[in-house]
Amino acid sequence: MLQRNSDTPTTIGSYWEASIQAPRQDRQLMGNALFDVAIIGAGFAGLSAALKLAQDGVSTCVLEAEQVGFGASGRNGGFCCLGGTKLDERTLIRKFGLEEARKFVAYQLAGVNLVEERLNLWNADVDRHSTGEIFLAHRPRDVASLQDDAGFLKENFGIKTRLLSKDDLEKNGFGGPEFYGGMHFPYGFALNPMKYVHALADQVRQSGGKIFGKSQVSGVTRDGDRWRLETEHGFVRVRKVVLAGNGYAREDAPRWLQGRTLPVMSSIQVTRPLSEQELSAQNWTSDIMAADTRILLHYFRLLPDRRFLFGTRGGIFESPKSLANMRKRARADFERMFPAWVRIEPEFSWHGNVCLARDLTPFVGEIPHMEGVYSVMGWHGSGIAMASISGEKVAGLITGKIRQQDLPAVVSSPLRRFPLATLRKLYLQGAYWWYGWQDR
Ligand SMILES: Cc1cc2nc3c(=O)[nH]c(=O)nc-3n(C[C@H](O)[C@H](O)[C@H](O)COP(=O)(O)OP(=O)(O)OC[C@H]3O[C@@H](n4cnc5c(N)ncnc54)[C@H](O)[C@@H]3O)c2cc1C
Repeated sequence: MLQRNSDTPTTIGSYWEASIQAPRQDRQLMGNALFDVAIIGAGFAGLSAALKLAQDGVSTCVLEAEQVGFGASGRNGGFCCLGGTKLDERTLIRKFGLEEARKFVAYQLAGVNLVEERLNLWNADVDRHSTGEIFLAHRPRDVASLQDDAGFLKENFGIKTRLLSKDDLEKNGFGGPEFYGGMHFPYGFALNPMKYVHALADQVRQSGGKIFGKSQVSGVTRDGDRWRLETEHGFVRVRKVVLAGNGYAREDAPRWLQGRTLPVMSSIQVTRPLSEQELSAQNWTSDIMAADTRILLHYFRLLPDRRFLFGTRGGIFESPKSLANMRKRARADFERMFPAWVRIEPEFSWHGNVCLARDLTPFVGEIPHMEGVYSVMGWHGSGIAMASISGEKVAGLITGKIRQQDLPAVVSSPLRRFPLATLRKLYLQGAYWWYGWQDR
């Protein structure tokens, strides 16, 4: 049963919020408390770290500025898939070598498997569908690139993809004037991310982890042999800190973060449920999750209740004018790609922040010169699987069950400061214009 939660201050108007019953609101931190570990941010990364630590008997709290799932974890497209870096596999091999690139691919696959195992273990109903995902060539010349990619993935990573011609696409319910061919990638599945993040939070609470809502951390400072995390109505003193704010991180908590992350937007629209007739008119009947071959890609899927989810990337500034433009662009793209649905207006529309890093790779590890402070951030638009597994791994680093060298090199370099950091959104704007031009 759909329920609009407009009475809660953190509502963003997403379909995911409307698809769950009133979620639990965690109490604010009032006064002072002592824990072994404090985690900043209640998304997939922070909660995954908290779960593992709590299960290992470590006294752990999560400090969340709003409520569980307020960040990207409650706003995303629900594609549980590989990702986490903006570097493609060829560049990874060039930069890190084949062995490390393989280690990283295996890490991402383990992330997808971890999410699946958790959902099975918890018997969590998160509206799962889709076996793998499909990449659709948005220009005739991209069909050859997909063929190249298929050979490359098989040869270097043993991944067997399936190529589809335009005819195959039509026969399999992937209809659209801009789809010239496809590559089906066998790993991944789709889910309702809000249901997943709340299931995760429930597990944290059941395991003895404490979550504080409405408790934004405004400062992280050294206090004797502990760290002190300041919030509006109290503070915690802890031995270890995990930074899991990703695209919502405050740059001054701690100051080390200043200029090291670049939040950019991704936006989503969801239609009303479509009739069988409307689906046939567009010939989009597959429940496989899909993305096109653009650099500023579109991602889309038919939800189990027959609504259509359509996501775009490329927003930088959050002013009302920029948001209106972003929505207008997304709508124009939707109408061009799915012309049979031009009269179907979105019923839900929202956006959220993903986190880019200067080296285009995440950082999972202890921050240099800040003993006991760990980062688990920087997923570049694909964090369901990556943030989930990386949260577990950072917990392993804290308890000493794993060492940094057990993690792929790709996730082990500390986030570097962007050059001319205050201008980084402006120069990204320039890059986006260039990408948009290349995508034509
Ligand atoms: C529109 C959109 C679509 C996406 N689609 C996909 C997809 O289909 N598949 C996929 O894999 N990924 C997708 N992503 C990316 C994915 O959602 C994120 O990478 C992932 O959710 C990040 O999880 P996280 O726990 O690292 O951070 P978040 O979920 O962003 O959580 C960070 C939390 O930290 C809190 N916080 C920050 N600073 C502080 C502070 N100082 N004190 C207290 N709390 C603080 C925030 O309030 C926030 O709740 C999408 C993202 C967006 C925005």
